[in-house]
Amino acid sequence: MTDPLLLRGELDQALAYAVREATRYLGELDESPVLPAGASDAAEELAGSLPQESDGALAALTELVEHGLGAATRSSGPRFFHFVTGGVTPAAQGADWLASTLDQNAFSAVSSPLAVRLESVAIAWLLDLFELPSSWGGVLTTGATTANFTALAAARRWWAERHGVDIDERGFDGLPAPPIFSSGYVHPSATKALAMLGLGRGSVRVVAKDAAGRLDEAGLESALEALGGRPAIVIGNAGEVNAGDFDPIEPMADLAERYGAWLHVDGAFGLFARLTPRASGLASGVERANSVISDGHKWLNVPYDCGFAFLRDPAPLHATFGFSAAYLPGDELPGPEASRRARSLAVWATLRAYGRSGYRAMVERHLDLAQRLAERVDASPVLERLAEAPLNIVCFRFRPPDVDESELDELNARIGRALLADGRVYVGTTRYEGRVAFRPAIVNWRTTAADVELIADVVVELGERELATAVRR
Ligand SMILES: *Cc1c(COP(=O)(O)O)cnc(C)c1O
Repeated sequence: MTDPLLLRGELDQALAYAVREATRYLGELDESPVLPAGASDAAEELAGSLPQESDGALAALTELVEHGLGAATRSSGPRFFHFVTGGVTPAAQGADWLASTLDQNAFSAVSSPLAVRLESVAIAWLLDLFELPSSWGGVLTTGATTANFTALAAARRWWAERHGVDIDERGFDGLPAPPIFSSGYVHPSATKALAMLGLGRGSVRVVAKDAAGRLDEAGLESALEALGGRPAIVIGNAGEVNAGDFDPIEPMADLAERYGAWLHVDGAFGLFARLTPRASGLASGVERANSVISDGHKWLNVPYDCGFAFLRDPAPLHATFGFSAAYLPGDELPGPEASRRARSLAVWATLRAYGRSGYRAMVERHLDLAQRLAERVDASPVLERLAEAPLNIVCFRFRPPDVDESELDELNARIGRALLADGRVYVGTTRYEGRVAFRPAIVNWRTTAADVELIADVVVELGERELATAVRR
């Protein structure tokens, strides 16, 4: 029989084994291909039916290491440029292990004074880091999607109150459709959050002036004016995912102020522009918003899952997310979750370890690396940059001079698939102004110039190869 109590003697060995294998894995991370050959076959080795009688922790961990490590995407490594995916700093790594070890339930000070106090310290330090008013409050979430959900729930409550309805108590109760505006940069997680809040994905009116999605300021102004004083929600985007561009937050804050709208800003990675005077102008005006969100597992380089929702006035969060019962202490933190992990440990530890100057240095290095890649692209006769690179994303495509424009989308999409299969660097494709493009995002503390150079090298190499095979076909 394998009752865990009978096998408790395995604990020391199991932990020592996990530390040894983790140390080896992380030690090889800088050199490893992003996706190991045979990854999905390796993952398949872990399938199978539920063991009836089994043989304990060491046997399980050995099997997990043997197949799982071979199946794992090296997404915390220096050459994972897909999506906007951060790594894990050594301080965050250690603290996250401790969070699992202590297994605190961060939902209430009665369940964990440590987790609740550290969460308030983490929020205060983050507000300071991002130069947001110290009078604001906030909550740690699973990521930017749930942070958008949390903040937009507060916006929804405010909007309904303006119509005289306590939406968290009474539901929609005859409320009209809410006027919600954004530029074409609005992230699908914000529209998903609106769907989850019952406001509907389709409630966002995109006010854009061009194919890239840039905000039409005059259009936003007349839309707000046309409401004749009815309350609206404006979503600003501090950092969009295709090219790292920003909505003009300062003018949006002016408009929100003038027309009495709630300004919410999605700064999932772009909020980090405020860490350096070289980029902070992009995100100026964010401090005038009603709510702002960002991600921990992106540019802060803490492990999944971690996001932040900041609110000028966090008190209304309790109306949406509070809950009570005779057995509960009544001091629960507000947020979409009840029981939850002590994410604050990793946030606290990484900020304690590297401080403002360490994060500023990392962000500035990433800005330099993005400029370096942009220059490489500009200097190449077969690469074409499609957008400015104001922050940490470089949007470009393979464009040899003798290939017709009509074939470029298909060619770049093929290179995109080949690139992921190749695995030396991981870069996603998108459509920018209708054209298929690469959009590497630089957010990992480990990433160096050599890693970034490899993006251009590999795209050119695979591009030439795809061209050659296309000719032969
Ligand atoms: C990544 C991202 C999100 C969603 O974040 P998750 O952490 O994946 O939920 C939202 N907005 C922007 C701008 C993002 O880059």
